Amino acid sequence: METRKRSREEIEGAETETPSNETSSDNDGGKAKGGLSESSKQIPTATEFIAPSEQFLTLPPELKDVDFSKRVEWRKFAPYTDDPLPLTPIDQPAVFSSQYPALCFHVHATSGRARATTLHLPSGRKVPTPIFMPVGTKGTIKALTTEEICNDKALNCPIILGNTYHLALQPGTELVRDMGGLHKFMQWDRGILTDSGGFQMVSLLKLAEITEEGVTFENPFLQQEDKDVNDRERMLLRPEDSITHQNNIGSDIMMALDDVVSSVTDNDERFEIATYRTLRWLDRCFAAHSKPKEQNLFAIVQGGLDTKVGGLREKCLAGFQARDEQIPGYAIGGLAGGESKEQFWKVVNQCCKSLPDDKPRYLMGVGYPLDLVVCSALGVDMYDCVYPTRTARFGVALVPGEAPGTMRLKNNEFSNDHRVIMEGCECQACKGGYTRARLNILLKRNNPLAAALMTSHNIAYMMYLVRGMRKAVIEDRYGEYVRSFIHDQFRGSEKGGQDVPQWVKDALEEAGIDLKLDTP
Ligand SMILES: [Zn+2]
Repeated sequence: METRKRSREEIEGAETETPSNETSSDNDGGKAKGGLSESSKQIPTATEFIAPSEQFLTLPPELKDVDFSKRVEWRKFAPYTDDPLPLTPIDQPAVFSSQYPALCFHVHATSGRARATTLHLPSGRKVPTPIFMPVGTKGTIKALTTEEICNDKALNCPIILGNTYHLALQPGTELVRDMGGLHKFMQWDRGILTDSGGFQMVSLLKLAEITEEGVTFENPFLQQEDKDVNDRERMLLRPEDSITHQNNIGSDIMMALDDVVSSVTDNDERFEIATYRTLRWLDRCFAAHSKPKEQNLFAIVQGGLDTKVGGLREKCLAGFQARDEQIPGYAIGGLAGGESKEQFWKVVNQCCKSLPDDKPRYLMGVGYPLDLVVCSALGVDMYDCVYPTRTARFGVALVPGEAPGTMRLKNNEFSNDHRVIMEGCECQACKGGYTRARLNILLKRNNPLAAALMTSHNIAYMMYLVRGMRKAVIEDRYGEYVRSFIHDQFRGSEKGGQDVPQWVKDALEEAGIDLKLDTP
């Protein structure tokens, strides 16, 4: 591996991935301050992993001997091969190994490629999969109390997601650490997964500049009255900072900082640079990780939409395979960014077929119920997305039945509807007897209670969904479960409904599930 040491000036001057409407002359990463500066002082950049700009497009040395004429693949078990996958009974206690001291991963059952597993986390926390993780941006799921998310029978969420970027800005992760970590800060004794802050590179791209050293953000919360504007407005997030923040937060699962490129970017070189950089940044993340016995660090597969043999996804996978002994779990990143569904499922499929069967697989940023049902059929275990909670606040309830499976409760058609959102649902809204008419008026008046009730319902819906999926896998009838879900959503155009989208048919065929669409 390249070990040439480089000065800070070289690093900062090496490359700018500045959006074309910005100049790089204001690159003052070294002076970056604000919520991210404290940690920058504590851990120096691991310069041994820094590549000079002329090597950005060079295959990393550890991949030189990989045979890219065939698919990159870990040791695979049934149904991928004839080798039976070792299964563990559900009540088997966790045993933590010295290799992965913060994760004990049990696969209990498979049904086709779908899996039912448990992630045993430190402190006895358990996450059954398939699982959906609601997003609690700043240590709270908007509009709900911790008690509701935890103890409401319908919700009963085993794990939530926190955003490192937002927590680093407000209230600052040093404060969270001093308050005993995020679990204690929010009185939450279940699982927490934190992202790296990397996703904001895509979502806030106009505010971010990516270099080999890290990502420099402009502070979106910058106040006009702040006197020292030049000194406060930019913040550098390096892999070392991301991990220090996540160590401060104390999440059970941390995500590596990756170089994310919007999936619809039309720049092959940019994807190649980002893929190789993601590997180097992973090494820096592991080098900075100070609590390996308490917190897991997951790697994120990047590589754009390039799923061909020897393509960028394969190169990223091969890079992780070379580092597999360190990595307790994997995420599939760089999707849900506007790519076609055809491209989307192919990346998911490829990653699931390559990644090891004895480690969790987490598909980032995906939260449409249909996507969960299909991607679990391909072998994904974990999901997160702001969609169910965000759409709830806009008055959209998730419901079973005809696609898109939503109910827009602000619409006038509900102003005299005496039914609850979903019969039999035990969320705060449905169990509490709040009729669609009542929710309609609360939403129209922007009553905060409406946001709470709608959020409770949508999270409950997602949890019913994943619990139903898990049960179906354990009973080895996941194919039947998928058929029933798809037939409910897509009755077919001749019956006044929608036809099953081609990508769903293709993905499920690849997963070995026959939709039996010709059967009446
Ligand atoms: Zn409900």
